[in-house]
Amino acid sequence: MFLTRLIYASKVAADVNRDDLDQIIESACKNNAELGVTGALVFSNKYFLQVLEGGRSEVNTVYHKILADKRHYEPTLLDYSEISQRMFHEWEMKLFLETNINRKTNIKYFSQENFDPYEISGKTAAKLLQDITSKDHMEK
Ligand code: FAD
Repeated sequence: MFLTRLIYASKVAADVNRDDLDQIIESACKNNAELGVTGALVFSNKYFLQVLEGGRSEVNTVYHKILADKRHYEPTLLDYSEISQRMFHEWEMKLFLETNINRKTNIKYFSQENFDPYEISGKTAAKLLQDITSKDHMEK
């Protein structure tokens, strides 16, 4: 089965709180482990940015489940590629909080310092996710 990488952005539903985030990560880790899917989820007060990596069919299954989730809206596919190796293989799913993103990282990728994944291309989103997840201080 081809290895694939899928990146999407979405808008956080108004009533989402920290308990929701913990529950999402708990479900994601459990389900993704069973499917061999790995990745990372970035949360800001406004947006989610998520990368999923794994077999094509498995990534597709997870993405469709996520699309139906009412805890976010306007999910928008930023990038879908066949890959020869994973870049985000360390976690079944790990949460990164936007509040911990270094200001310089935001300046590097966004025109106005504000984290807005709808403003960037899929390739740029992959680079941003790589930067965010490589920083030790970006703990859950
Ligand atoms: P369980 O894990 O058994 O559900 C546990 C609890 O969550 C239950 O109390 C249930 O009521 C509640 N719950 C389940 N679904 C929802 C829902 N749609 N809305 C509100 N409460 C709910 N899932 C993954 O498997 N992998 C991912 O990588 C992943 N990433 C996500 C990223 C985002 C931004 C969001 C919003 C959701 C993500 N999810 C992910 C969660 C996914 O949408 C489903 O909720 C989850 O897969 C359901 O898992 P489950 O059927 O095993 O339910």
